[in-house]
Amino acid sequence: MFLEMPGKSYKEQLPALTAYEQKLSLDLKQDLDYFAGEIGEHNYQYYDALKTAESFIADQLEAAGYTVQFQGYDIDNQRFNNIEVEIPGTEKADEILIIGAHYDSVIGSPGANDNGSGVVALLALARAFQGRQFPKTLRFVAFVNEEPPFFCTEDMGSLVYARRCRSRNEKIIGMMSLETMGYYSDKPGSQKYPINLLNNIYPVTGNFISFVSNVSSQNFIKQVVKLFRSHTQFPSEGTALPDAVSGVGWSDHWSFWQVDYPALMITDTAPFRYPYYHTAEDTPDKVNYDCLARVIAGLERVILELLA
Ligand SMILES: [Zn+2]
Repeated sequence: MFLEMPGKSYKEQLPALTAYEQKLSLDLKQDLDYFAGEIGEHNYQYYDALKTAESFIADQLEAAGYTVQFQGYDIDNQRFNNIEVEIPGTEKADEILIIGAHYDSVIGSPGANDNGSGVVALLALARAFQGRQFPKTLRFVAFVNEEPPFFCTEDMGSLVYARRCRSRNEKIIGMMSLETMGYYSDKPGSQKYPINLLNNIYPVTGNFISFVSNVSSQNFIKQVVKLFRSHTQFPSEGTALPDAVSGVGWSDHWSFWQVDYPALMITDTAPFRYPYYHTAEDTPDKVNYDCLARVIAGLERVILELLA
């Protein structure tokens, strides 16, 4: 059986946002209004905008108190950078948890939800953890060049990064890809699935956050979903499916699978829910900042426990 943890139906009213989540929601909106609204489309075709996006992420991480590292590589004489910060562990520093999000937008789109939502979530989490110490090592990485024509090629930023981890023999205990995670709908039928069978098992209303992995990462995803649910009153679904199912490998977690690390994606399911996926209409006004804040607050608690 490859389906894991179909969730219960969530009919209960969600609790009111905490003061922390309210503040988070405003910060997310402010960051995304700049990142996708002002910068606009940012990718190899809009190279200056991509560099502006890179600087924004690096500046925000530095302002939060981190020392920023770049992993650069060239394509056709142009430089592309992954952006990385780390909090070294105090007792089991060799065990590393990676939180990642790609920061390029697809051609023809400002990429507010895909993947501005993942980027602003990454920044929010990085701010939340800065200045604290944990037994294990925590890394935040913003990846370049996830979208086509780089997707699943040698020039995909996260594949360059994951291979370096493997070549250094790093012990990555898990990688979480923050991918298109800001769109929620209470409309019945708003949620679709890559295979029909799943319609009978999972909700057809797109109001939940989804954790997705392949079968090899199922121990990791089980642990993460269990931790998320134990602390967080927000609907969530977890699925470990074969790599071959459409959509299961559609982000930077795929790169970590290529070098045999456990990895999963945290997503609103993108094309299976979001009507503006990969279009010019993927703008900051489509993102539900309150839902995104709830999810991020939940992920903070998950990360904390994974680092213990
Ligand atoms: Zn994406």
